[in-house]
Amino acid sequence: MRRPDDYISARAHGVDASGIRKVFDLAAKMKDPINLSIGLPDFDVPQQAKQAAIDAINSGHNRYTQTQGIAPLRERLRADLSKEIGRDVGEVLITSGVSGALFLAILATIDPGDEAIFLDPYFVMYKHLLTMAGGRANIVDSYPDYRFHADRVRKAITSRTKLLILNSPSNPTGVVMSQQEVQQAVNVAREHDLLIISDEIYEQFLYSSPSSLDSPARLYDKTVILRGFSKSHAMTGWRLGYAAGPEAIIAQMTKLQQYTFVCAPSAFQYAALKAMDIPMGDHVAAYRRKRDIAFETLSRKFEVVKPEGAFYIFPRSPSGITASAFVARAIENNVLIIPGNVFSERDTHFRISYATTDEKLQKGCQILCDLVG
Ligand code: PMP
Repeated sequence: MRRPDDYISARAHGVDASGIRKVFDLAAKMKDPINLSIGLPDFDVPQQAKQAAIDAINSGHNRYTQTQGIAPLRERLRADLSKEIGRDVGEVLITSGVSGALFLAILATIDPGDEAIFLDPYFVMYKHLLTMAGGRANIVDSYPDYRFHADRVRKAITSRTKLLILNSPSNPTGVVMSQQEVQQAVNVAREHDLLIISDEIYEQFLYSSPSSLDSPARLYDKTVILRGFSKSHAMTGWRLGYAAGPEAIIAQMTKLQQYTFVCAPSAFQYAALKAMDIPMGDHVAAYRRKRDIAFETLSRKFEVVKPEGAFYIFPRSPSGITASAFVARAIENNVLIIPGNVFSERDTHFRISYATTDEKLQKGCQILCDLVG
């Protein structure tokens, strides 16, 4: 007789989410933590966007939309992206968050045994989605500067490598690829005929000049751009993202969306169209200040790379102690941070999200510095 456990697929067993679960378990025991672990903005959805969602619901936009998303939003995104990259970006698919877009992109391209290459540290979902698809994560170390080292990437490529996944600005390091690095990444992709999946979810959170992101799509048409509204407009719960790129790939992703997510949330697609016209520059300025607070405080005691985007910073834990052990000590002192091994093959660094109040951020960073002594 099979027990319930016996029904679980090897695919599900293959996904190891134990690292992040341990952090959640520890966090659940904390009373009023200084929470520097959360990957979402600390501002609320702009009022006009909320109103647009309410209006959309009241005017009956409560049914399925077309699988690919509502035409006015797709057209607007296609026009804006095409203008930005200097050529027609291709087709646009509205997805259930960038997570949905990542899932569909990997499912549409990866056969069992195929590889996707990306830098370590990485956004944790890449690895698990590849496992789910039967593919292999080919992970290239980018320590200690977290830059794109073309020589290391070239060396790791095999005959099964199909995708190059880029994430700039990066979660968890905050590093933004320079124009030169983007060019190098494109060169590597061209040499080995790889498809680039460019995860640009933090594209609006840039703190250095130039203030617009250098997307590889500007140089290389075999790029699928993934962006969304979760971070830019604090709509993580509204589940809205999009993919733009070569028609043949977006068409397959759309087909797969039809039998999985069906469509992205209807009313929120209308709200997102409105949200595109809301200026978010003040929020970005606030995050630049938070970045400065975090970097200035932490760099007194930690080895740390100054982030240029997103809202994370990824310092090295003090010598002689693993990141997990240091995080446990931080949590004992009421500061919630995430050990680097959740985002990395190494257990040497930790991630701080500075998406919190300046006061909490200052206090939390100071406590971490005091732990070093
Ligand atoms: N990519 C990166 C790099 C992220 O950090 C996140 C969210 N933490 C996502 C994709 C997924 O975002 P969402 O599904 O909320 O749009």
